[in-house]
This record gives sequence, C-alpha cells and structure tokens, in this order.
Amino acid sequence: MSIPSYDKLFIGGEWVTPASDRLIEVVSPINGQVIATVPEANEEDVDRAVAAARKAFDEGPWPRMSPAERAEYLARIGDEVVRRIPAMSEAFTNEIGAPAMVSEAFHDNARKMWGDSSTLHERFEFEEERTWADGGRGRLVREPVGVTATIIPWNGPVATGSLKIGPALAAGCTVVFKPAPEGPVSVMMLAEAIEAAGLPPGVVNVVPAGREVGQHLVEHKDVDKVSFTGSTAAGRKIMASVADRIGRISLELGGKSAAIITDDAPLESVLPTLVFGGLGNSGQVCAALTRILVPRERQEELVTAMAAAYQDIKVGDPREDGVMLGPLAAKRQQDRVLDYIRIGKEEGARVVTGGGVPEGLEQGYYVEPTIFADVSPDMRIAKEEIFGPVICVMPYESIDEAVDIANATEYGLSGAVYAKDDATAESIARRIRTGQIGVNTWAMCVTQPFGGYKQSGLGREGNVEGLGAFLETKLIMY
Ligand code: NAD
Repeated sequence: MSIPSYDKLFIGGEWVTPASDRLIEVVSPINGQVIATVPEANEEDVDRAVAAARKAFDEGPWPRMSPAERAEYLARIGDEVVRRIPAMSEAFTNEIGAPAMVSEAFHDNARKMWGDSSTLHERFEFEEERTWADGGRGRLVREPVGVTATIIPWNGPVATGSLKIGPALAAGCTVVFKPAPEGPVSVMMLAEAIEAAGLPPGVVNVVPAGREVGQHLVEHKDVDKVSFTGSTAAGRKIMASVADRIGRISLELGGKSAAIITDDAPLESVLPTLVFGGLGNSGQVCAALTRILVPRERQEELVTAMAAAYQDIKVGDPREDGVMLGPLAAKRQQDRVLDYIRIGKEEGARVVTGGGVPEGLEQGYYVEPTIFADVSPDMRIAKEEIFGPVICVMPYESIDEAVDIANATEYGLSGAVYAKDDATAESIARRIRTGQIGVNTWAMCVTQPFGGYKQSGLGREGNVEGLGAFLETKLIMY
C-alpha cells in the first residue's frame, strides 16, 4: 500500500514549513503499520493560520466578491475534488479502513456538497427589501460572520469538511480547517484541491492536529465562528470555551438513532436499509441506526432475519473486492467497542451473532458485526454511542412505548420508521425528536438540512440552512 506523505501545512495560500518537526504517524487499521506521515500543527501554526484567515477576511477580496463570483471558485473546487476522488478513496481506505465502496460513496457525497455549495446563491437572497408598519423601509443584508474554525473527526473527513467549508466560503467567510490526526491524508488531498482552484491567499488554511491544539484554535480571540463535528463530550467543552466571547457556534455531535418496526412492516423491505444503516463504515457513522425497536412478538423473526443477512456480509481487508465491513479506524476504537460488547453481556443482553474479533483477522482492528437482543432502555449499550458495528434490538409492547424508547436518549440525530404503509410510518416519525428520519427507508441526506435535536447538536448543515449558519443579519433603515 502506498499513500502519500506530506511535510508542509497549507497556510496563507502556500505550503509552508511547520513551526515544529512534530509528525502525525498514520497507522493503517488494516494491519497496524505506519503508512504515511503528515505534519502536526502546533499553537504557533494555528496562530499563523488564524492571522492569514483574519487578513483575508478583513482586507482581502473574498468577502467583498459577489456570491456569484465566489460560486465560480466553489464549482472549481468541486471539479478538483472529483479529479481526486480515486486517490482520496484509496487513501481513506488505507488510513481508516473503510471498504472501497464506502470510501467512494463518501467522496461522492463530497462532490454533491460542492455542487450544492456552488449553487446556493441561485436560491438564497443575500439581500432583500423590507417594509413595515408606519411606512418603515429598509434593506436586510446578510453578511459573512468572519473567520471560521472548522473542526472535524476522522470518520469521513473529506465529506464532513466539505459540508462546512463549502457553505462557509459561499457566505464569504474565511476558514481555518483542523482535521483530526487519525486519517489526515485524504484531507491533505482536499487542501490540494482547494489550492488548485486558486482562491485568494488565506481564504482556506489547513492545520491537522489533536485536541489541545484544537482547543487553542477555538479559544482564539480572532476566530468569529466555530463549526464543529465530533463527540458530544467535545462539543460541550468547545461550547463552553467560546461562551466568554459569545462566539458563534454550530455543533454536529453524536447519535443513538432508533429504527421503529411496526407489527405489520414486511421484513423484506426493512432489511436492506436497516442492515446498511447500522453497519455502514463499520458503524462509525454518527447517524447510524443502532437501536432497533420491534414488537416483542416479532423479535425472534427479526433477529433471525438480521443474523442471516449478517452472514452474507464479507468482513475483511477493505481493499478486497466484495468486502463490506473493514476494521475499526484505530486500536482505541476497537478497544472501546469490545468493551461495550463486554458491558452488554454483563448487563444481561443476549448476543445473537458476533460478539468478538473475527477469526483470522487478529492483526488489524476488526470487530465482528454484533447483534444484541432483549436490550432494555436502561442498559448502557442502549443509551451510549458505541460507534462500531454493534446493534441493539429492543422489544416493545405498544407504539406509544416504542416512541418513548426512541426518544429516551440524550441524542436526536437520525432514525427510521418501517410500517406497511407510509402514512402510518410518517405519523410515528413525526413523534420522534430527531433531525432527519426515514419513512420505510434510511438515508443520511447531506444536501438537505442535517443536524441534531437535543445533545446531537446545534444548528443545521447543508443547503440554505447550512449557509445561514455562516451569516450575520443586518438591517439598514431609511
Ligand atoms: P472527538 O470529539 O474526540 O474529536 C473530533 C475532532 O475534534 C477531532 O479533530 C479532535 O481533535 C477535535 N477536538 C476534540 N476535543 C477538542 C477540543 N476540546 N477543542 C477543539 N477540538 C477538539 O470525536 P471522535 O471520537 O474523534 O469522533 C467520533 C465522534 O464524532 C462521534 O461521537 C460521532 O457521532 C461524531 N460525529 C458526528 C457527526 C455529525 O454530523 N453529527 C458526524 C461524524 C461524527
């Protein structure tokens, strides 16, 4: 396997030598080997990046261009991303362990996001005339919020980064982008795509680093807005960090999404999206369907059918044809997931299938796709985000109880309801407190508003709602 290493950071429109010689060693979860290195930015690099973004915002042409002019650059970034999809997908597969088809689907999402961002100006009024009582008249002007810190996790960084950077740029903001230290190579390729589009210097700056340096970035007085994707624990801390300066903030956080299956839902139409919705990217998806709520008398029918479907899933080296489930992204992820499996067993949940490391795959960070049945709402495995291929099947007695269970976590990001007819499923879906929900399907739609209720986040990304998160509103009165 050969994926490129990097020795420079992208700051102020140039590839610059980092302030320190600290390197991120990229460990492949396929075999635990170091496969590339990327410089690790430190506080000084972050200060340089923020200064470049500040200058580009305060003095540069970017916020002063028309939205249509900016859109041309965004379309160019989209073209440059498309050109790099094969290389980004290969890097992502090697550094995070996502099977090739998952990698390609993630990067295709990035293409869609840049397409969406580059057309936002066609369906959004940056300015409008307003009149009000007693002859009041004015113009409402939507202006970029300023220098934006975008911070993302490792589980789909090109797509997650694109979902933030695209709308931020469309709004006229400048960006300091801090990807996670796990799996930074595909992100460096995104930096190259952005560079190739020829944006003015300092409009986007890329500084891969860990938490402490991320903390320095969010606390920086010259950062006007933080747009964060990651765990709820980190989101809470970051929100507290910007509180003193009333910093603008958007948060896309964790999830524990429920699928409700009614007594009349035909399993053959439930299974395809239910299985993929729970296991895609080895369950390392914030919107994953991880709690399956089923009438008690249908539990055995469902778990038997799910276990049979899991038998058909090829687990193994994600570079091999037909593999649908690769390793978890890192050793600490594997340890965490195996620990939750142990906790589930101790809590009295029943392992239907899986429950350990697959035979013959002891070298990388693999975990068998695992189904727990007889899971009750008070168990930790039912409440906490596991972020792995572990599914909790929870029996219920009535639809009211199913709705209560679905709503009984601190999260509210995604979900699904399966019933014989769409109208019944939709009436149940309306009762679930969650940001996106499928009716007889499951999907993660990233070109429409995406985000969470409750502790799954604050604000929405995607489309004009995502653009709005990077704008301030000013009323000019006559
Ligand atoms: P994490 O929160 O530990 O880290 C995410 C990113 O934030 C990393 O870049 C990390 O370096 C940085 N970070 C952590 N603490 C920070 C701090 N105090 N200040 C500044 N930066 C900080 O999350 P993780 O475990 O790496 O990623 C998995 C989590 O991300 C899961 O909980 C998952 O649900 C969530 N996620 C959410 C979405 C969504 O859109 N809602 C999408 C993908 C992942």
